[in-house]
Amino acid sequence: MSDPRNMTTSAGSPIADNQNSLSAGERGPLLMQDYQLIEKLAHQNRERIPERVVHAKGWGAFGVLTITQDISAYTKARLFGEVGKRTEVLARFSTVAGELGAADAERDVRGFALKFYTEEGNWDLVGNNTPVFFVRDPLKFPDFIHTQKRHPRTNLRSNTAAWDFWSLSPESLHQVTMLMSDRGLPTDVRHINGYGSHTYSFINAENQRVWVKFHFKTQQGHKHWTNAEAAQVVGQTRESTQEDLYGSIERGDYPRWRMCVQIMTEAQAEQVAYNPFDLTKVWPHADFPLIEVGILELNRNPENYFAEIEQAAFSPSNIIPGIGFSPDRMLQARVFSYADAHRYRIGTHYEALPVNAPKCPVRHYHKDGAMRFTPNMPSADAYYEPNSFGGPTQNPEYAEPPLPLSGAADRYNHRIGNDDYSQPRALFEFFDQGQKQRLFANIAAAMQGVPEFIIERQLGHFDKVHPDYARGVREALAAAK
Ligand code: NDP
Repeated sequence: MSDPRNMTTSAGSPIADNQNSLSAGERGPLLMQDYQLIEKLAHQNRERIPERVVHAKGWGAFGVLTITQDISAYTKARLFGEVGKRTEVLARFSTVAGELGAADAERDVRGFALKFYTEEGNWDLVGNNTPVFFVRDPLKFPDFIHTQKRHPRTNLRSNTAAWDFWSLSPESLHQVTMLMSDRGLPTDVRHINGYGSHTYSFINAENQRVWVKFHFKTQQGHKHWTNAEAAQVVGQTRESTQEDLYGSIERGDYPRWRMCVQIMTEAQAEQVAYNPFDLTKVWPHADFPLIEVGILELNRNPENYFAEIEQAAFSPSNIIPGIGFSPDRMLQARVFSYADAHRYRIGTHYEALPVNAPKCPVRHYHKDGAMRFTPNMPSADAYYEPNSFGGPTQNPEYAEPPLPLSGAADRYNHRIGNDDYSQPRALFEFFDQGQKQRLFANIAAAMQGVPEFIIERQLGHFDKVHPDYARGVREALAAAK
């Protein structure tokens, strides 16, 4: 057994000198055979993986979901199986647009991604602190993200690009109103709600499906900064959210969220006036009340940020028996694109990394590729399927009922006949005078430098939400001049 105080090469050989390179004479050149020097330099060159194209700046922690209410009538998912059941969870929060080194206190949507390590595989719920999103069709997603990123020539963020796109895409109004409201600039991630945002399905033991939306209500209350407060914070620290989350967990002040679901039957889904699979819409609480499911608590900081948070790979494709997808077209696209992003960012076998690996056995026939370190099947002869050597096989008991609501394949125009104004109006009318004034001021600030014709186009949308909305923004724009 080697002495644990001995430093070694990555191949395990003890290192005699980690201070002085090997040179030919005291003033002479270095030798190629100083593989320890070469190994160190080579590793340094490889210390980064591609940062996420979106949600690059993040903060995370581990915790537990404890079930407080029986919902087995809706789902057979075992993590909800009994009151008191506890499931280990990894949470990663993030901003959307900023790069890995961006300041935390920025006006932006916050990612709210959860990985539940259940006994039947990992379930990833990859949501935001808002229940809706800017677009409802994934064909528009890369364009939308381009507007949030840097201009190709100036290398600056562009207010013009953002408002040009939004004013040409009125389905964004709901999310834009949330982003420009108080909640668009939270002080940290303990004081935000989380939403699964998409519509998913629950499947019960009788193989009956209902549609479901997930909500996580902060138990710390909501806290946000004004733009002016955030500017001061960023002047003092760019890591305000990391400091808050890490510090509170180190102090034993564990953040908690009340997990709730909304349930809609397949029959109800055919009746509601809006498309229940449209990511720009909520399901009104009065029609679909929140049902409490459990309490999420975060209580453990990662030991190694890079290994456990930067390499954490969340994907909506990770579902478990009892939880399924829906016709939500944004969800359908994310089921592909998140897993694909991780294969590119981390590598083929990213799900075998300790933070991503399920806590239950994994039995598949994906084979080789970079970093394959998973073992063979119990019988090495079973390396394809079907086989005659006792390898694992499919189990039809897990088959879901067929997804309903299909139709003829076409490129349906989801703008025609779609009401993009009523739900933003309900939110606007929910705001008190102070909230409205701050909403107007935040929008006016975000419109600085935007050409007049784009502002006018956007004001036309605000006017359709509520005349007071357009009037308020117009006045705030005049005041900001
Ligand atoms: P309610 O009238 O029952 O409640 C309004 C909701 O708005 C509350 O859930 C509240 O969250 C939330 N809220 C308050 N301030 C903000 C903000 N700045 N940004 C985002 N959400 C905020 O809701 P309805 O179901 O009748 O829907 C009315 C409108 O409320 C919707 O059009 C939507 O804009 C918004 N909303 C609805 C949600 C839903 O799932 N139904 C979820 C979130 C917002 P809290 O309870 O935490 O205070």
